[in-house]
Order: sequence, then structure tokens, then C-alpha cells
Amino acid sequence: HQFAYGDLTHILSGIVTLLETQAILNNVQIHADFDPDVPQIYCDANQLKQVFINIMKNALEAMPQGGEVRVELSRSGPAAVLVRIVDHGAGIPAEQLEQIGHPFFTTKSSGTGLGLMISFRIIEAHKGKMQFFSEPGKGTEVSITLPVSFAKR
Ligand code: ADP
Ligand code: MG
Repeated sequence: HQFAYGDLTHILSGIVTLLETQAILNNVQIHADFDPDVPQIYCDANQLKQVFINIMKNALEAMPQGGEVRVELSRSGPAAVLVRIVDHGAGIPAEQLEQIGHPFFTTKSSGTGLGLMISFRIIEAHKGKMQFFSEPGKGTEVSITLPVSFAKR
């Protein structure tokens, strides 16, 4: 675990670039909206990359007909930042929403159901919070709040 101050704009831009080809193949447009006024945060950049890649891939996989995925980065009060990833895909039914992040919960024929379990753990290790809001047929929003820094135990 390598914690240091890091720039989420840089991390998220890298992920958008990394997934550009897959997005084009899926007919998905990725819209990035990064507030330039966001502070650096104390984080394990490689672990956060894993989280954002997992969530972005889920968004792309939820939109087989294509469409638009938004990635937003903004400030959340004086000491936290907010990342929102919004898709217009299939959405998640209420009874499945509560199973999100449980080990091996997947609705995909070749899914592992591990991506979000690991993602929740990583966000927890950063003293952050990850929430899912979803409406079947409309899409899903994943919102991740991360503190700028946190006291180590
Ligand atoms: P996997 O992608 O291997 O199935 P995940 O832990 O990444 O495992 O996701 C678990 C399940 O949560 C998925 O199978 C899917 O049913 C649901 N899910 C996650 N993100 C989305 C999303 N953006 N839209 C619709 N369903 C989602
Ligand atoms: Mg996944």
C-alpha cells in the first residue's frame, strides 16, 4: 500500500484515455467534467485506479446499445472530493442493489462479482464512502466521496 498525495484529475484522465478504445467499440461517449479547483488527496493511486476502472467497465457493460457515460470530479466541502460516474444503462433493480459488493454477486454470464467488493474495501481503506443510486431502465450513478486526508490509526 503506497499512500501519498495524488491528483485525481490526473488519475481519472488516465482512465478515460485507457478506456477510450473500449468505449468507442461499445458506441459509448465518455464525458469528463473535472473541476480544476479540486485539491490533491492522500491516497493509494494504484488502488483508486482499480476502483475507477471497475466502475467505468461496469458502466460500459451496462450499455450494450451505447450512449453516454459521465465522469465528474468536484469538491465536496472543505476537506473532501466527490467522484460521480453516471451511466444510462440497464440500471439495477432494488432487490439487487442491496447485494452490490457482496462477494461473487454478479448478473453477468462471465462476471466474477468481485470488482465492487474489492472497490468497497479500497474506498473504506481511504475512509471514503461509495454509494449506488439506480433506476432500472434509466441508469446508474456511483458516487464516491473521499477525504482529502485522514489520520492513520
Ligand atoms: P461483475 O462486473 O464481474 O459482475 P461487479 O462486482 O463489478 O462484478 O458488479 C456486480 C454486479 O453489479 C454486476 O454483475 C451488475 O449486475 C451490477 N452492476 C454494477 N454496476 C452496474 C451498472 N453500472 N449498471 C448496472 N448494473 C451494475
Ligand atoms: Mg465489474
